[in-house]
Amino acid sequence: LSKLSLVAFDADDTLWHNLIHFEKTETAFGQMFADYMPAEKATKVLTEMEKKNIGLYGFGVKGFTLSMIESAITITKDQLTSDQVQRILELGRAMLDHDMELLPHVEETLKATSREFKCLLITKGDLHHQERKVLASGLAPFFEGIEIVSDKKRATYEKICKRYGGAPETTLMAGNSIRSDVLPMIEAGGYGCYVPFSILWDHEHEEVPKGTPRYFEVEDLRGVLDVARKIIA
Ligand SMILES: [Mg+2]
Repeated sequence: LSKLSLVAFDADDTLWHNLIHFEKTETAFGQMFADYMPAEKATKVLTEMEKKNIGLYGFGVKGFTLSMIESAITITKDQLTSDQVQRILELGRAMLDHDMELLPHVEETLKATSREFKCLLITKGDLHHQERKVLASGLAPFFEGIEIVSDKKRATYEKICKRYGGAPETTLMAGNSIRSDVLPMIEAGGYGCYVPFSILWDHEHEEVPKGTPRYFEVEDLRGVLDVARKIIA
């Protein structure tokens, strides 16, 4: 058995932009209700609502849109108009319908990596929206499999590895989230590679498991192939 049977990639903010669309919309939402309270405060109401609802709605734009409506009801003290609801729906639609923007080095990295390793894409979010993003990205041919999941837990990775004839012990997962891409894969016995999203490494929000065996971090996506080669060397 090879030391590495699968190389898996996260998609949102690893292969393409995602967070900027949420942040842009959160700001626009706050501005929309600036007559009721300071825009920043309205945005805060929304981000708290998102957190409250995530367990029930899961990750994705549609649940986020419902949270915008619910926040607006709170902010306007039950005076929300159908015109305002319409504008919120438009904000949500725009998030589902924006142009695909690949992050730097994505195509070259996937092209090279898929020549040497069996590659998977593992992403969470709305099934329909993620399917459309995969299609729009043009990246599907590089992947042996595309897995759209509701959450990324240790068991999720175990199941997926098995499905593709591998095992966590011989799988490398690369992504921008320590919490969902890196740690559960390492817990399952696999390799995790942190690919920070922003230029400034945002180590404050998530604990980087320095010193953990099977943990790697790279400066950008190109480093993932080097890590994979290092593992089999
Ligand atoms: Mg991500």
